[in-house]
Amino acid sequence: MTLEELRADFAAQGQPAFHALQVYRWLHRGVRSFSEMSDQSKAFRQKLSERYYIAAAEIEQRLVSKLDGTAKYLLRLPDGEHVECVLMEYHHGYSICISSQVGCKMNCSFCATGKSGFSRNLTASEMLSQIQTVQQDQGIRISNVVLMGSGEPFDNYDNVVKFLRLVNDPKGLNISLRNISLSTCGLVPKMRAFADEGLPVTLSISLHAPNDGIRQKIMPVAHAYAIEDVLSACRNYVEKTGRRVVFEYALIKNVNCDVKCAEELARRLRGLQCHVNLIPLNAVKERNLEAPTKQDVQAFLKRLELKNISATVRREMGADIDGACGQLRRKALTEGI
Ligand code: SAH
Repeated sequence: MTLEELRADFAAQGQPAFHALQVYRWLHRGVRSFSEMSDQSKAFRQKLSERYYIAAAEIEQRLVSKLDGTAKYLLRLPDGEHVECVLMEYHHGYSICISSQVGCKMNCSFCATGKSGFSRNLTASEMLSQIQTVQQDQGIRISNVVLMGSGEPFDNYDNVVKFLRLVNDPKGLNISLRNISLSTCGLVPKMRAFADEGLPVTLSISLHAPNDGIRQKIMPVAHAYAIEDVLSACRNYVEKTGRRVVFEYALIKNVNCDVKCAEELARRLRGLQCHVNLIPLNAVKERNLEAPTKQDVQAFLKRLELKNISATVRREMGADIDGACGQLRRKALTEGI
């Protein structure tokens, strides 16, 4: 709940308004039960636990990479569903990649999450709880958040927007919106709506192809929205927010990674304020797709640079701990924890 919602509900219950702010602060400090709210009376804490619940996630599994310290968590939600999130340490601080849904409906051909189907949306507090749980577990403060875990954030639009407002609240975790990235497969109407929310996060778009033909082969959502419409929504986002967009491009052997594709991509993106993030495919069991060679990746990058498109290859982290989307939850579902 937002502070306003909490205040309104407290007022309706005949509780003084100042209690709402106290309770809100406790919640955003990451308490797991009302009994921890030590400045509240016992009777009031009892009342709270009768009317509300705290969506605190429990750690089911934690895997720490020996290569780079990246930590992958499998978290259990109050109803027994599982989500994954990943903590990464960079020179500028800690960054967490969180999930926005349990599973995903988009079913991209290279992604492990879609393989396990869709279960439900996450609430705003379940997204916050991923951050709080990992912060508490590690005794750290997280400064950057990426909504790039399992799920399609714009398929859970209202909860995601609410989460962004809550996580940015100075009375809450107070994480700057400029330190937050949101990745979408390109749900055009939601991209347009989001441009009007006044939330200056970095918008990333999973493009993965230079044309509709290739994109339709690997992303079912490409049948609903043409690349031109996605790019036009991007231009609108840049115009309205003044922020460049980021394109994610997973390089897949024999599918989208020859230099002809790079040429076509550069032509498409010409004049658009953007950066391209190249992701060598993280080959997923059960998906018949292969990673490109290092030479393929470098040739693709060089061709984009030659055409004056800003681009980098994403550094792989947590390679030894099933760091990519949905891999851990899928293992838990198919092999048991
Ligand atoms: N639904 C959102 C965010 C989730 S995934 C989206 O589509 O953007 C975050 C990124 O990881 C997306 O760009 C997604 O396409 C990419 N991804 C998923 N599986 C991958 C894999 N096996 N290898 C490389 N990138 C992958």
